[in-house]
Amino acid sequence: KTTLARRVLALSPSPTLAITAKAKELQSQGHGIIGLGAGEPDFNTPEHILEAAKKSMDEGHTKYTPSSGLPELKKAISEKFSKDQGINYAMNEIIVGNGAKHILYTLFQVLLDEGDEVIIPSPYWVSYPEQVKLADGVPVIVECKENSNFKISPRQLEEAITNRTKAVIINSPGNPTGMVYSKEELEAIGEICLKHNVLIVSDEIYEKLVYGGNKHVSIAQISPDLKEQTVVVNGVSKSHSMTGWRIGYAAGNKEIVEAMTNLASHSTSNPTTTAQYATIEAYRGTQKPVEEMKKSFEGRLEKVFADLVSIPGFSCLKPQGAFYLFPNVTEAVKACGYKDADEFSEALLEKAKVAVIPGSGFGAPDNIRLSYATSLENLEEAIRRIQSFVAERM
Ligand code: PLP
Repeated sequence: KTTLARRVLALSPSPTLAITAKAKELQSQGHGIIGLGAGEPDFNTPEHILEAAKKSMDEGHTKYTPSSGLPELKKAISEKFSKDQGINYAMNEIIVGNGAKHILYTLFQVLLDEGDEVIIPSPYWVSYPEQVKLADGVPVIVECKENSNFKISPRQLEEAITNRTKAVIINSPGNPTGMVYSKEELEAIGEICLKHNVLIVSDEIYEKLVYGGNKHVSIAQISPDLKEQTVVVNGVSKSHSMTGWRIGYAAGNKEIVEAMTNLASHSTSNPTTTAQYATIEAYRGTQKPVEEMKKSFEGRLEKVFADLVSIPGFSCLKPQGAFYLFPNVTEAVKACGYKDADEFSEALLEKAKVAVIPGSGFGAPDNIRLSYATSLENLEEAIRRIQSFVAERM
């Protein structure tokens, strides 16, 4: 019998999958489930982007491209960085890949030797630790508490650094917390990374979804030294509602980008050509749909936040970005007689018919994640259901 590699035996399946599968099963049995598990915008890809993709196919652009992406797309990405962050990347400092997720995967593959450590502040996006492990690295989880807004402090960071530390991941705006790091916070983190020569992996995929008076700052724009010390990861999945197109990119030091390009040349060859043409239009065309989608997310957040925190036993930091609510439900879990938030989430699905993601998979077992990438109507009904579920059991 064929045995599998140790590398995949250690791989944890995506924690969001179990509950999503169960929600689908219940849905197919005719239960009216409201899904708040989604990690993708609920809007169509804007029309002008679809048109550009179709046109590129009609014009015969259906062949391989350079492994690091079409020069024209890299130029459009470079223009985006100058416009939004005021920083300039040369063509050999940018690689386009098959989604930000695969870009991160490739990055860890070229960065890490066995035993190299990557500092990951928790709560974290579920794939970071797994991707580090797949590259034989060691995820070093630093727990960031709610009372520090789920953000890593310079002191926590410095304490976690060892002589094996290769990188730290900063994800702002963050999934699942919705927290945004300020310029001052990034400066302090950056200083420590420069002092100890720790590479910063800055996942900025939710850049365009920042609310209220908050502002997205890239740690790479703070100083030329920090630009050199950082690999920025971004993409169009969340900003332009293009999750299925699978386009993401990294910008940073040219040796790292070159290594990633070499690896891509043997693994993916190139990101899908049509999707690359679509992305050129996403960046060069009108940004109005991006603004409108952001406004919708923010409107929903403003409409439902007060209701969510009024649920007995729920407390929640107000998200500053992305499209997730991440309430602490410790009190509600206890008062309703459940063991933990995993069990509570299961009961919410079965009894209240609302699918949420338990926080355990994000390294935050006291919380649950609710996505507001769904209609306001769904969202309001889901919160009503959770409210009565809790009220009936308290
Ligand atoms: N980074 C974070 C924090 C995410 O939440 C996601 C998607 O869920 C990604 C990266 C990956 O995005 P994509 O691979 O669609 O570009």
